[in-house]
Amino acid sequence: MITEKLYWKDSYLKYFDAIVVSIEDNKIELDRTAFYPKGGGQVGDTGYINEIKVLDTIKENDTIFHVVEKNDFKIGENVSGKIDWDRRYKIMRNHSASHIVEYFMLLEFKDIRPYSSGLVDDLKDRTDYLTEKTLEIERIKIVENNVNAFIEENNPINIWIDENGIRHWESKFIKTKCAGTHVKNTSEIGKVKIEKGKKPGKGRERIETMVI
Ligand SMILES: [Zn+2]
Repeated sequence: MITEKLYWKDSYLKYFDAIVVSIEDNKIELDRTAFYPKGGGQVGDTGYINEIKVLDTIKENDTIFHVVEKNDFKIGENVSGKIDWDRRYKIMRNHSASHIVEYFMLLEFKDIRPYSSGLVDDLKDRTDYLTEKTLEIERIKIVENNVNAFIEENNPINIWIDENGIRHWESKFIKTKCAGTHVKNTSEIGKVKIEKGKKPGKGRERIETMVI
């Protein structure tokens, strides 16, 4: 069945009730969930279902599974979910920041392009760029200043869905496609720090963004 994706309806939802619809080993499927499943470069949510720890949330084919520490759930059982909000809110702030960083990175370094969608968790966003050159620290500092100036403008972040069901992320003049969870305004991001990460391979440079 298709799980009702509460995290898309309200990315700030922390608690919800649901029904267990299927069980597999240490994984359970619910009829609705606020737990974001790993995908699109964003890690899966953790938290609790009843008193049982949710270690991860994953997607297998189109099924969202909650990986639980102990599985004595029953199909048809009513349960209460609670996501680890501190962790998720940091992920949302880092994820929203990552789209602003990418915009200003591509503006400053005209001849680079993102290698993949990156990976964002509660600690940081990592994005790799394809380039034969070394990205200079001084210019990364310029990007960091531009990003923080944009954030300080308290720009609203709008998520909208097109006729093909694709989710779009927009803030002022920055536009991208994204299925992750986000804050509603750049004011929630706070200040960001941008650093060069460990070189991920030949012809690539890694940029790490963290909210501070
Ligand atoms: Zn995204």
